[in-house]
Amino acid sequence: MVQKLQSVKAFSPTKVAEAHATIPETSQRSVNSEVRYGEVWVWVEHLHGKAAPVSWELLGEGKRLATKYETELAAVVIGNAVSHLAKEAFVQGTDKVYLVQEESLEDYRTQPYAIALTQAVKMFKPEALLLGGTIRGRDLAGSAATLIETGLIADCTALDVDLETGTFLGTRPDYGGNLMSTIICPKHRPTMVSVRPRVMKSLPQDQSRHGEVVNVDVTLKPEDLNTEVLNFVPIEKVGVRLEDAQIIVSGGRGLGSGRNFHLIEELAQQLQAQVGASRAAVRAGWIGYEHQVGQTGLTVRPRVYIAVGISGAIQHIVGIMNVDYIASINRDPNASIFKMSDFGLIGDLFNIVPALTEELKSTSTELAPWRRSSTQ
Ligand code: FAD
Repeated sequence: MVQKLQSVKAFSPTKVAEAHATIPETSQRSVNSEVRYGEVWVWVEHLHGKAAPVSWELLGEGKRLATKYETELAAVVIGNAVSHLAKEAFVQGTDKVYLVQEESLEDYRTQPYAIALTQAVKMFKPEALLLGGTIRGRDLAGSAATLIETGLIADCTALDVDLETGTFLGTRPDYGGNLMSTIICPKHRPTMVSVRPRVMKSLPQDQSRHGEVVNVDVTLKPEDLNTEVLNFVPIEKVGVRLEDAQIIVSGGRGLGSGRNFHLIEELAQQLQAQVGASRAAVRAGWIGYEHQVGQTGLTVRPRVYIAVGISGAIQHIVGIMNVDYIASINRDPNASIFKMSDFGLIGDLFNIVPALTEELKSTSTELAPWRRSSTQ
């Protein structure tokens, strides 16, 4: 893999083309636009037949990339009795589904899933393969990339295509989050990438959509099934669920002390919001890690994100890149957070936040409809 420590714009197409020139003919499918590209694939992750939303988000992004490549978008569904997921994938925007069904693929297990995916990839040769950056997605991505002998760009926050060279570009925070790297995989196909949940946007659902289902036969030998699932015990996640919140109020180091975090909690209560935090606040022990937003915390996607006393370090920003509206309160007019905020209040949070909370307390439900229909 080749790594460029610069933005996509700083890319050198010449260098990429040179690198392509060393690839054997058979794998040079994406060197220039005269050669027909392979498809863009998305692995449909599911637990006992229930799809992980990240799969549909990746179909949304995959559609954009497939359009750029002038190729088809395909979903690859692996499991047992999972044809309903093929139907769902069409509703979510795929053009085609590769359906791998086997009794032994009933439960997710690393080795058989990686082998099944590898066999499908070797049969149909996609250009790019997108997987969710979830526990199972990361596990499968790494194992399958090793078997396929291709490159994996993990935890991408942006994907694109260099149209001049046909090269797939994966951008991700790197070097402790201090730089955004754009990484390419010039010598092998497919380029595999993982993307965290809530980073990409799914397409509007269309119940009338349908398409071609390709049933894929894979061969799994007894020695490929090296683990056995004896029982499944789900762990119920209780307490904070920032992932599903519609409104988040986050506090940072600007609060000065854990004793002041109640200001965030009171504002959040009036907005029926969840409470988030920067790593500085978490590290200071003012609030638990489950509240941390950012690169080493959660990627969130609420309708509204209110950042209070947070400077807007890149490691925090990567967790809120796809929020609909960001509002920030900071006393430093040059704070980076303002660069990506839709609304900004410059001033002392100790004056602004209590005043906002008081104002909201006196606001009728008519003007604050979220009080009636909170979907936290
Ligand atoms: P600061 O940067 O100190 O900002 C405090 C802000 O509060 C300042 O802008 C200041 O102007 C403002 N302020 C101060 N007093 C007031 C006041 N009275 N009224 C109004 N405003 C005031 N960070 C994350 O958040 N999430 C992550 O997941 C994460 N992962 C990381 C991973 C790595 C590998 C590394 C190296 C760092 C990571 N960080 C992460 C840390 C990140 O680099 C920043 O240090 C952190 O986000 C800063 O938190 P902050 O904005 O709360 O604090």
